Amino acid sequence: MVIQITRYNLKCRECGKEYPAEKRSVCDDCFGPVKVNFNIDEVRKTFTKSAISQRPRTLWRYFELLPVDDKNKIIDLGSSCTPLIHAKNLGKVLGLKNLYIKNDSINPTFSFKDRPVTVGITKAIEFDMKVISCASTGNLAASCGAHASKAGLECYVFVPDNIEHNKIAQIAAYGAKIISVNGIYDTANRLSNEAADRYGWAVLNVNIRPYYAEGEKTIAFETAEQLGWNLPDAVVVPIGSGGLLCEVEKAFTELRNLSFVPEHHVRFFGAQGEGADAVITAFKNKTNVIPIKNPKTIAKSIMFGSPGDGDHALKIMKETNGGGENPTDGEILEGIKLLAKTEGILTEPAGGTTIAALKRLTEAGSFDSGDKIVAYITGNGLKTQEAIPKANIRRIDPKIEFVDRILKEGI
Ligand SMILES: *Cc1c(COP(=O)(O)O)cnc(C)c1O
Ligand SMILES: [Zn+2]
Repeated sequence: MVIQITRYNLKCRECGKEYPAEKRSVCDDCFGPVKVNFNIDEVRKTFTKSAISQRPRTLWRYFELLPVDDKNKIIDLGSSCTPLIHAKNLGKVLGLKNLYIKNDSINPTFSFKDRPVTVGITKAIEFDMKVISCASTGNLAASCGAHASKAGLECYVFVPDNIEHNKIAQIAAYGAKIISVNGIYDTANRLSNEAADRYGWAVLNVNIRPYYAEGEKTIAFETAEQLGWNLPDAVVVPIGSGGLLCEVEKAFTELRNLSFVPEHHVRFFGAQGEGADAVITAFKNKTNVIPIKNPKTIAKSIMFGSPGDGDHALKIMKETNGGGENPTDGEILEGIKLLAKTEGILTEPAGGTTIAALKRLTEAGSFDSGDKIVAYITGNGLKTQEAIPKANIRRIDPKIEFVDRILKEGI
């Protein structure tokens, strides 16, 4: 049966079966994930470069490629349109002339999760759902909490019991109800699945996932727009579930299909912390993704044992002649310091992982020195005080002679 589509419908990523844009996240036939499938001819009617250039600087400028119908229902905290910085200082250290940092640590709740959440919660409201929920390592929970407040909806978040103190404080401040689950992220995620069915909640990254995930594409739309509607030669993306990496690829493909960008090959590189590196290990060992029972890394926001989109992320890394790296905790902390000291950007360990992976990849000769590379910095360092480099401080009485002495002796 052919289902008539207007601007978008749902399509199974595994078997291709199509469904209307309903409340659904898996395929009835093969249990594969369903994805939003856009009718490019329909999108093209109003989605033009000149139209976009006139629109407000929020991710809703890409409305036609987002799975939402009613503009009046949009819940938006002003996410996105974050800087794409030519990282000349870091590039010099690494030997890369055209290194760019997409700094998504400065979104309203200080991670890239504001992108999928603004789309996911808007869709949940279109579906007339009343309670917002998620399973999260912290950043998604904070974003859900903030957006639910703005929408005036109740919010319950499932988090593993070991996440950073500042993240808990932030989530609580928004008024979200925190359900801290004994165990790792994967455990909290399983419980949130049950809650979605039992209570009819909109668990954004579970039963609203196809819609939620589309918001992640906007980080890539922006990248292309900021490069003058061009694609980079390579991207380096942190991998938790693998969702972000997959959505960056989906976004670039949609832009190619619209002829918004020249046909240009982009190589995809993933970054995971050693100890929570199921996708990178699979790439290196040329195997399928084998779940890790007890994942462990300082990069807790990407500490997943069984990445839901891991297989698809791996496929993209392979098919684009990309790769990935799995730095140690020590390298991740060095990555945080390096980015802060060269570019003035303080990121959390997930960003440190991206920088450390970029460093390893560069040293291994994965790039040419002139390659245009975009590294995605997805979260803010102030959220993870535990991982901020220790400060050297000299206390003095307020007399200029003491300052003299410090300048002589150094700090
Ligand atoms: C969630 C998250 C990621 C990983 O995203 P996935 O889509 O799950 O792969 C990366 N960085 C930060 C800071 C995150 O919060
Ligand atoms: Zn299917």
